Amino acid sequence: MTDNNTTKHPLTLLGLGDMGTALARTWLAAGHPLTVWNRTAAKAAPLAAEGALLAADPAAAVAANSLVVVCLLDDAGVGSVLDGVDLTGKDLVNLTTGTPAEGRARAAWAEARGARFVDAGIMATPTMIGVPEAGGYVFYSGSRALFDAHRATLEVPAGARYVGGDPGHAALHDVALLSAMYGLFAGVSHAYALIEGEGIAPKDLAPLLSEWLGAMGFFVADAAERLTSKDLTTGVVSNLAMQVAAGGTLLRTAAEQGVGAELISPYLDLMRRRLDADPAAHGGEDTIGAIALLRTGPPGGRKLP
Ligand code: NDP
Repeated sequence: MTDNNTTKHPLTLLGLGDMGTALARTWLAAGHPLTVWNRTAAKAAPLAAEGALLAADPAAAVAANSLVVVCLLDDAGVGSVLDGVDLTGKDLVNLTTGTPAEGRARAAWAEARGARFVDAGIMATPTMIGVPEAGGYVFYSGSRALFDAHRATLEVPAGARYVGGDPGHAALHDVALLSAMYGLFAGVSHAYALIEGEGIAPKDLAPLLSEWLGAMGFFVADAAERLTSKDLTTGVVSNLAMQVAAGGTLLRTAAEQGVGAELISPYLDLMRRRLDADPAAHGGEDTIGAIALLRTGPPGGRKLP
């Protein structure tokens, strides 16, 4: 079945935690016939008053519609809820956060049971669901045919970004963005710790931090350009040797302020290791060169000089 502008596609949603409940409400508000199931039935009951059909068990919920969306806590939960349920001919959309390998394994698992499958990574909190101006969206990867058939329905709660046929790539995009976010959170936390007890109000530092981080945002595109061209030195104005020296100042300042350096020292250590490996070769590089030291898996992944 294919979505169109005049028909509100019916669907099933398994999982009514904070995220699942927000999703359910937006589909119901948009007029989509919705069948729901949740392990703890009490969470489903309020949705009945909003028009949801309550299924007695996962098998009944899946049988109700061809489009089945799953939003559970983790991949193990998906397996325990859907193992033994007939998925033949179903279009299964997995909004449960997982790793790329879990996404690929779940795709093979679903396809072996006769279903089309896309995995997803939600770049939104429940309060951003159904609020387009909040800017939340969802990464999808896997069956292009499934995504195209149901795009209009999937875009009701939040924007949809398809990132390719590899069912692991939605999770990979999700985790890449979240990992970068935690680097940002770590740096900001360290900055606030440094000023504590100094008579500098966090609210006074906040606009300066935001402005500085915005100005440093150029690093994202600049690093991508260097990783693509493999040119780590042309046009570098803040080279690795200088940055390693400055890193020493950061560490001494943390010690002077009585602040642990564990949030910033891993990145500073990585830069130092890159420099120490060959100061003449790496001293003039951009810091993105340190990425070569990150891969701990099978050799041959990173090809930077
Ligand atoms: P909640 O903890 O609020 O809800 C978890 C849901 O999973 C509940 O429906 C719970 O059922 C169900 N569940 C957990 N384990 C099992 C199991 N073994 N068998 C059956 N059902 C199970 O989480 P959210 O709704 O917030 O998150 C759902 C997914 O969305 C997660 O993968 C999360 O990472 C992702 N997500 C959440 C965001 C957020 O800000 N909340 C943001 C982006 C992604 P029960 O009610 O019975 O406990």
